[in-house]
Amino acid sequence: AVEVAGQVESEALATLRRVFGYESFRGEQEAVVEHVVGGGDAVVLMPTGGGKSLCYQIPALVRPGTGIVVSPLIALMQDQVDALRAVGVRAGFINSTQDFDERRLVEAEFTAGELDLLYLAPERLRLDSTQDLLSRGKIAVFAIDEAHCVSQWGHDFRPDYLALSVLGERWPDVPRIALTATATKATHQEIVQRLGMPAARHFVASFDRPNIQYRIVPKADPKKQLLAFLREEHAGDAGIVYCLSRNSVEKTAEFLTANGITAVPYHAGLDAGVRAKNQARFLREEGLVVVATIAFGMGIDKPDVRFVAHLDLPKSVEGYYQETGRAGRDGLPSTAWMAYGLNDVIQQRKLIQSGEGDEAFRRRAQSHLDAMLALCETARCRRGQLLDYFGQDPEPTGCGNCDTCLTPPETWDGTVAAQKVLSTVVRLQRERGQKFGAVQIIDILLGKRTGKVIQFDHDQLSVFGIGQDLAEGEWRGVIRQLLAQGLLAVEGEYGTLVLTEGSGTVLRREREVPLRKEPKRAA
Ligand code: ADP
Ligand code: ZN
Repeated sequence: AVEVAGQVESEALATLRRVFGYESFRGEQEAVVEHVVGGGDAVVLMPTGGGKSLCYQIPALVRPGTGIVVSPLIALMQDQVDALRAVGVRAGFINSTQDFDERRLVEAEFTAGELDLLYLAPERLRLDSTQDLLSRGKIAVFAIDEAHCVSQWGHDFRPDYLALSVLGERWPDVPRIALTATATKATHQEIVQRLGMPAARHFVASFDRPNIQYRIVPKADPKKQLLAFLREEHAGDAGIVYCLSRNSVEKTAEFLTANGITAVPYHAGLDAGVRAKNQARFLREEGLVVVATIAFGMGIDKPDVRFVAHLDLPKSVEGYYQETGRAGRDGLPSTAWMAYGLNDVIQQRKLIQSGEGDEAFRRRAQSHLDAMLALCETARCRRGQLLDYFGQDPEPTGCGNCDTCLTPPETWDGTVAAQKVLSTVVRLQRERGQKFGAVQIIDILLGKRTGKVIQFDHDQLSVFGIGQDLAEGEWRGVIRQLLAQGLLAVEGEYGTLVLTEGSGTVLRREREVPLRKEPKRAA
C-alpha cells in the first residue's frame, strides 16, 4: 500500500488512478484485481463493456514481470497495444501480422524484462518456440481472454484454446485469469475443467443491461420498418444495423442514405481502406449509422451507441447478447430492436442443414438456434429469458423495459390452425410424395388458384381452402411458431416443410398448441 495525501490506497487503486486516470474500480473489478495480485486464479464473467481489460492489466502492472494476454482477436492487438502505450504502459504483441525483425524486437524486450504486457494469439502458445521464449522471461500473470472459445459446445470454439491447459502445468506458480462475456453455466464449467483451474475463484458480474430496451417485432417490410423505427425513436443517433449478407448490408445502407439517414456499410468484402474509414467515422462522428455484418463491432468501444438493430436473426443467444450489448455502454437509455419473420427461421435452418461440419456440429448449431427462436417467440419478459439463459435469476415480475413487458402479447389456442398446416404437409407427403415450402402450403390453405397450385392439381386436395379463417400473415406466423417449437421442420436447399416426431402429437390431438398472436402494428 502507498500513502497519498494522507490516504492509504492499495497499489492496485494507485495504479488505476495514476496510469489509467480513473477514480475508482467498477463492480467486481476491485475484488478480481486484489485476488489476482495476491497470486490467485480467477474466472471472470462480465458482460461486454463491463471492464474486463483492467482486471488483468492492473495485476500485470502491480506484480513483477510481464502479463501474458492470450487473445484470438489478432486484428485488435495493434490497437490495444497502441492504446496502452499512449498511457505509458510498456506493451507489445506477437502475431502472424509481424515480420521477423518486429517479432525479434518484442521477444528481446520481453526477455529483458522491459514489457508490462505481451499479447499473444492462442496458436502461438502451442509452439515450443513460444513456450521456450516465455521460460526465458518473468511472467506476472496469464490472462486468457474470450475464454469461452475453449468450450467445444460453445458458439465460438477454437481448438487452439485446448492447448492452454499447458500454462497451469508448466507455470504452476503464475496466477491465471480467464475472462469471457458470454458464458452459460455449462460453458463456465467447461472453462474451469479444460483450462485446469479447479481452485480458481469465480467472479460473476450481472449480465443485466437495464438501460437496454429489448424489442423483437414481426418482420413485414424490414427496411421500411427500420426506417420508421429510426425516424420515430432515434433520429440523429449513432447506431449499428446488423444484416446477414454483404448484399443486404449494401442495399440497406443505400436505402437509409436515400432516405436522409447518414449510413455507411461495413463487411469483410469491402476494401480494407474503406472499412477502416467507415469504422473511424463511426467512432468520431456523431449520429452515424453503420450497417454491417457481424464482422463489425468486436472490440469497438463507443459509449454512446443508442441502438442496435437486427434485420436478420442471429445464430445464437450468445451472439444476440454480444451484438445488442454494444448499445448503451454509457448507461443511458438505448434500444435493441430486431425484425424477425418466417423466412429467418427457414433460412437459418437451411444454412445449418446445408452448411459444413459433422452431425454433432449441426446438432449444436441447431440447439443454439432453438434457444434464439425461443427468445423471439416467448410471451414472457425478454430480459428474464436472457438472464435465465445465462444462469442468472431474473425479476419474477418482469423488467418493465422490454416489448413483452410493455405490451404483453396475447396468446390464442392455435391447435386447430396447427392441425390444418400439418394435415396439408401430410397430404402432400403421404398422398403425393411431394414436399413444398411455406408459400405453397399457405396458398393451398387459403384456396388460392395460383399457377403453381393448378400445375400440381393442389386445388383437388381435401385441405384446399380450409384456412380462409386466417390471413396470409397469420398463417406465416403459425408456420414460424411451429418451426420454432419443433412441430415442423425445414429440409434441403429449397426449404421445404416436413413433419417431425412432434407433429404426430398435434395431429392425434394429444396436445394443444398455444400461439402468440401476431400484433397488428409492425413496430
Ligand atoms: P470489456 O473488455 O469487458 O468489454 P473494457 O475493458 O473494454 O470492457 O472496458 C469498457 C470501457 O469501460 C472502456 O472504455 C474502459 O476504459 C471503461 N472502464 C473500465 N473500467 C473502468 C473504471 N473502473 N472506471 C472508468 N471506466 C472504466
Ligand atoms: Zn421485460
